[in-house]
Amino acid sequence: MSGLLEGKNIVVMGVANERSIAWGITKSLHNAGANLIFTNRQERSHQKLVKLLESNNMEATLLVNCDVSNDESIQAAFAEIKEKVGVIHGVIHSVAFAKREELKGEYADTSRDGFLLAQEISAYSLVAVTKAAKELMTEGGSIVTQTYLGSERVIPNYNVMGVAKASLEASVRYLAEDMGKYNIRVNAISAGPIRTLSAKGVSGFNDKANVIVEKAPLRRNVDQDQVGDATLFFISDLSRGVTGEVLHVDSGFHIIG
Ligand code: NDP
Repeated sequence: MSGLLEGKNIVVMGVANERSIAWGITKSLHNAGANLIFTNRQERSHQKLVKLLESNNMEATLLVNCDVSNDESIQAAFAEIKEKVGVIHGVIHSVAFAKREELKGEYADTSRDGFLLAQEISAYSLVAVTKAAKELMTEGGSIVTQTYLGSERVIPNYNVMGVAKASLEASVRYLAEDMGKYNIRVNAISAGPIRTLSAKGVSGFNDKANVIVEKAPLRRNVDQDQVGDATLFFISDLSRGVTGEVLHVDSGFHIIG
């Protein structure tokens, strides 16, 4: 895969630590020769990323702050990227948030605030980021987001986030139609359960992981590196004929009834 992304500038949003799906993606994109620009919200995540890059002998093209709940922050982040890097060719959107108390019990108990917050950070952010990124994608590009099966099926405790992911996947399709005329593709990966900081917030993570090993065709869990390589396919020209798609990287679990 080396050289596949040589000379390509890719923005990676959502590395919180070494377990983050976005970190698995980072490794795949780096191995393919991409120039990487990172955005973080929290200072703690920024510090972790700096250490991770150092210990893996990777050099970032640019690190910028970006809180996707804030339009000015998104504008400022992409303005800085435009000024310091210029053209970009891809964006990895690996960002989501819901209140912990909404990720257990009954979905019917979801609060108005909790519903709106999950939608804002986990779904609307892709719309706002796509709009800002489009201005820098003057040579065409590829945008990839991360979703989960809880958008299609009722998965215990996933609740408000399942509904946010359904909204995210519908956004992928509408954005794909809008962006297609600019030669920008928009796709999603639907990963199986992976133990990350965010996954810990959803009750009953172990049950979800066990059921994959038991029932999925491949009878094993997926990891960040597998999602990374599938994302590399979407970011690279190998997938140039694909847009508006949701690709399951879940050991085939979604086909089992
Ligand atoms: P992580 O906790 O490692 O990553 C989540 C990221 O979201 C963090 O980097 C966090 O940034 C970022 N984030 C949250 N709120 C904001 C905000 N307001 N502005 C900017 N960034 C924000 O967990 P994952 O790697 O698991 O999650 C990445 C994506 O993968 C999510 O969309 C998740 O739903 C999805 N996914 C996860 C699966 C799993 O089993 N883990 C399965 C399928 C999909 P910061 O740390 O700076 O706050």
